Amino acid sequence: MIMAKSRHFIKKIKIKKQAIKDIRKLFQDAKESYKKNKKKSDNLLRKARRLSLKHKVKIPVGLKRIMCKNCYKLLVPGDNCRIRVARGKVIYYCLECKRFMRFPFSKKKKKKISKIYILFILILLIRGCFNGIGIAGAK
Ligand SMILES: [Zn+2]
Repeated sequence: MIMAKSRHFIKKIKIKKQAIKDIRKLFQDAKESYKKNKKKSDNLLRKARRLSLKHKVKIPVGLKRIMCKNCYKLLVPGDNCRIRVARGKVIYYCLECKRFMRFPFSKKKKKKISKIYILFILILLIRGCFNGIGIAGAK
């Protein structure tokens, strides 16, 4: 019984991985066919979305930004989309459906900066301690 369950689980993971691969490929095809045929690229993106819903797989983050959240069309900066930065957010304005998408800046960078900052303070503290000892010894 357990064997059967685990085998089923492995199969599920395989299917999900394949689905993500397919989604990546569909996005690639959509990008390539955008200039020639916009409708085709829209259909490809719709297919990709359907795949992600069917297999309960998230669309990769980099690709999510290319697709409009509201009309599921491919966003090409300078053609049918406008990108602005305001108040710590990147704002995508879709010219097809006239709606906004907002993404906050990634928090990873902030964390990195704070870690470096803490290290810097620690080094200063340690130096100060040594200096203090040195002065104490001199006295
Ligand atoms: Zn849109």
